[in-house]
Amino acid sequence: MEFFEEEDEEIKQLMLRISRKEITLCDSCDTFFDYIPQKTTCDECKKTRRRKYEQRPEVKEHIRKRAREYRQRPEVKERRREYRQRPEVKEREYNRKQTPEYKVQQREYQREYYNRPEVKKRRRKQQREHAREYRQRPEVKERRREYEQRPEVKERRRKQQRERYHRLKKLREEE
Ligand SMILES: [Zn+2]
Repeated sequence: MEFFEEEDEEIKQLMLRISRKEITLCDSCDTFFDYIPQKTTCDECKKTRRRKYEQRPEVKEHIRKRAREYRQRPEVKERRREYRQRPEVKEREYNRKQTPEYKVQQREYQREYYNRPEVKKRRRKQQREHAREYRQRPEVKERRREYEQRPEVKERRRKQQRERYHRLKKLREEE
């Protein structure tokens, strides 16, 4: 009986302290914490909740976007540039890049990056444009013309044309 009375007394004390706004009972676990207006969840539960929230894909994307925007601000860019110029930061960065973990991480990131559909599409387009520009250069055009004029190249082309002709002829005959 005494035990229950003791426990009863303790609960009474806690209730009293809650009503006096000295402490609060966490709304998702049985921890008490010092009263702070509007605060209903203990720090641990809050952290857990926050972690879970930040794991959601749409939230992750939102955070990434905001971080990107932040880094694009001129004053932030300038601050980061200055920071990176510091000798101790440069050295730390250099050492970090020498670690095997960093290299593995970097390779994985690149693989993931280059496999993104939008990146693949962009790269293919760039490659096509480069090839076009390259072919348009006067010296490349000139080289190509010279190449086409070589006897062995001319002969090969004629041979291919002959073969194509015979193939087509054969196809027509079969029809
Ligand atoms: Zn809690």
